[in-house]
Amino acid sequence: MSFEHLGLGPNILKAVARTGYTVPTPIQIAAVPVILAGKDLIGIAQTGTGKTAAFVLPMLEILAREKRGHGHRHPFALILAPTRELAAQIDEHVKMLAEDTGFTAVTIYGGVNEQPQIDALRRGVDIVVATPGRLLDLMGSGYVSLSQIKFAVLDEADRMLDMGFLPQIRRVVGALPRDRQTLLFSASLSPQIEQVTASFLRKPEIVQIGRRATPAETVAQFLYPVTKSRKVDLLLHLLDDMSMDTVLIFSRTKH
Ligand code: AMP
Repeated sequence: MSFEHLGLGPNILKAVARTGYTVPTPIQIAAVPVILAGKDLIGIAQTGTGKTAAFVLPMLEILAREKRGHGHRHPFALILAPTRELAAQIDEHVKMLAEDTGFTAVTIYGGVNEQPQIDALRRGVDIVVATPGRLLDLMGSGYVSLSQIKFAVLDEADRMLDMGFLPQIRRVVGALPRDRQTLLFSASLSPQIEQVTASFLRKPEIVQIGRRATPAETVAQFLYPVTKSRKVDLLLHLLDDMSMDTVLIFSRTKH
């Protein structure tokens, strides 16, 4: 399976080639055609599966079909994320993949001066990547209108619910036009997520990508049950093994 088979246009394929992605990941293979067909989608996939590109690529393709570009005052696409780090990461993907499309994006999150965000909104943007709190602030003061949003993504929805963002999400989604395409991504499908999707999505297709449970065949794993008091001795003993020249140690806490 290659990116050419997913229904993406030449401009977007060029961007894909530039990033160095050669084969689509399972979530991309499953989600991109569904999104391009205009359907709502529930994507169950963890970070690291390529889920960001799975919605950014078809979003850019849909924008291109809509012949969006400079001169539109109100944004066409909205991506909601739980944290500023994730919003920044999504924005990076958008900027990288949108480079030769001419589409513009702004990231809106709290904890920083809002003026640059307001200035970008004033110039007019196609895509808004936002955390719920600051977005609501800027909506409240009239700097951003969601009246033209046709494409909305709730990314890491499970985390947004865990962080208590449901009331904010309701207010944001309540401000979106009814006639829109909505995608929701979550690491798992809990009853709470099902409730949210039932109220925000329309006849969604579910795409589920399992966590990779098996290590690569070239990796051998060993387990050494040991009492806590002997852990360090065991570790030193293992490190004495001259055949290991590069070692990475993961631990539970910073301590
Ligand atoms: P994500 O799950 O969206 O956080 O993506 C995890 C990482 O995989 C990111 O660094 C992406 O740039 C990268 N990635 C996404 N799609 C592909 C692909 N088709 N081939 C190789 N890397 C990819």
